[in-house]
Amino acid sequence: MTVIRVRIIKPNNEKIAANTAYYRNNKKNRLKVHNCPHCNYETTGPKCILVNHINAKHTQETNKPFQCLHCCKGFSQKAHLQNHLIKQHNIPEHIAKPPVQSKNIYIYLISLTGKKAKSKTTIARLDIYKRYPKLFTEELKKLLVNGKQLVKPHNLHYDAKQEYITLKTMTEHEYRQLND
Ligand SMILES: [Zn+2]
Ligand SMILES: [Zn+2]
Repeated sequence: MTVIRVRIIKPNNEKIAANTAYYRNNKKNRLKVHNCPHCNYETTGPKCILVNHINAKHTQETNKPFQCLHCCKGFSQKAHLQNHLIKQHNIPEHIAKPPVQSKNIYIYLISLTGKKAKSKTTIARLDIYKRYPKLFTEELKKLLVNGKQLVKPHNLHYDAKQEYITLKTMTEHEYRQLND
């Protein structure tokens, strides 16, 4: 990995006006030229012009946080990757730019397999599932027996693993799409 360290030199405010004349003169007479160490690019402008060039052209693609899985290009911003997906790879906009959504489980869709349970608490839960084949996460919290939550998410997953039920979960977004 190549690490490029460049110091940005900020001109003092009072010098900016003089600088403009300086760079105009420099362009003509090429007194000070900044050369890119990676390619044949050069500028007679301020050093920050060279820095911008290096950041844009020579920062390793794999060092950029948003990576395109289709062509291994990297992007510094998520929106740039999304626009690239749409333009270069013809990915439909609604897929390239999905709305931000919650991954939390919104609803549990339960169906009984018919397997018989022995323990009283399991039988009680299966009875609940029979009455409520669609259980919203919010409703789970209200199913109380002696002040205790009767069915917790881990119970649902356990009962599915034990094959008392088959379980399907949906986020709010998925549920709303289904019911549109
Ligand atoms: Zn260069
Ligand atoms: Zn790509």
